Amino acid sequence: MDFFPENITGHYAAEKKAIMSLCNNRKGYCIADLARHLDASIPKVTRIVSEMLADGYLVELGKIGSSGGRRASLFGLNPNAGCFVGVHVGHEGLTVAVTDFPGNVLSVVESIPFHLESTESSVHQMCEKVRTCLKNMPVDSERIAAYGVDLTGRVNHQTGYSYSYFISEEKPLRMLLEQEFGRAVVVENDSRAMAWGEYVCGVAGDEGTILFLNVGWGLGMGMVLDGKLFYGKSGFSGEFGHFPLLNNDQYCRCGKVGCLETGASGLALHRLVTEKLAQGRTSVLSPAFKKGEDITLDNILDAIKKEDVLAIECIEEVGATLGRALAGLINIFNPDLVVIGGRLSVTEHYLLPPLKSAVNKLSLNIVNNDTHIKVSQLGRTAGAIGSSLLAKGLLLGNIEQ
Ligand SMILES: [Zn+2]
Repeated sequence: MDFFPENITGHYAAEKKAIMSLCNNRKGYCIADLARHLDASIPKVTRIVSEMLADGYLVELGKIGSSGGRRASLFGLNPNAGCFVGVHVGHEGLTVAVTDFPGNVLSVVESIPFHLESTESSVHQMCEKVRTCLKNMPVDSERIAAYGVDLTGRVNHQTGYSYSYFISEEKPLRMLLEQEFGRAVVVENDSRAMAWGEYVCGVAGDEGTILFLNVGWGLGMGMVLDGKLFYGKSGFSGEFGHFPLLNNDQYCRCGKVGCLETGASGLALHRLVTEKLAQGRTSVLSPAFKKGEDITLDNILDAIKKEDVLAIECIEEVGATLGRALAGLINIFNPDLVVIGGRLSVTEHYLLPPLKSAVNKLSLNIVNNDTHIKVSQLGRTAGAIGSSLLAKGLLLGNIEQ
């Protein structure tokens, strides 16, 4: 069995992809249900399902009772039909996740050391690390159907170009990756992949509209609106971090002044802490600071874990600023769920109370009453898991390229 999307073509291709998309929700379907969804005759669907069983795409999951006494068979995706690899490329390293056809997470490896650079050779190094990692995972490489790769910055998933990292002027990143992996690849922005991971496999339940805030070194957002990822015209939606909200006179990485990210992100937390240390405030970080050592974001997150009062004050300030901006988003989107993810989500006990207080104070109560705010369940694995699920979407024709 071959896994390239173009091989689910030919006879009844559209119907086969539609059946796989339907079964993607992990439910079993009987022939009558499938015929109704496809608006096709029972004999035709019976024939298509038989072919898909023979090809290994579907399996019989069991039987259901029926009024006629004869029990109809339920069909679902065959877990062994193939698997999908998701790769999250971050400044803190790589995470690789493998999911099967029904969407179960088979294996995840986190924190693979990798230095992200904006060059073509960096792409090759990343692919080498992924291949080495997969060799040590319980995955048959022949069964890998497609890859998903998410990374920070501006990414156009349709053209496959990345505009912030892994930049190649001649070829889109997706093409470079397809040459490396020998399989179809989808590239995605990290916050959007994380949002999709949480939506399908994480903290989301029946919620159809979720906003995922990726509070890392920067601040990004992925949106699932009515069950679908929202991209905008060119895939650049969700640049919440560059919302020009603050009158703080702080230069942003984008070159502008007063972006939300300058007050609500890991970068902002780092600035607040080091400013206070420079003013002579006492902290567990003071000795290292006085010696001139670099204070990293991980050092600060560690200090918060150790209940350092100065670092806690700063994360509370970040939470209040983020909550003020989130109040506006909740008024606009009226979401079911807001998920707080990214590196700073580990500080939830200090980040969330001021954030929720600002949301309660500043958003319209009739709107925010609808909204739950939860911390990411998948944590550092959200991007890689989301990317692997998007790779399956590519194979099933749910992603346009
Ligand atoms: Zn900015």
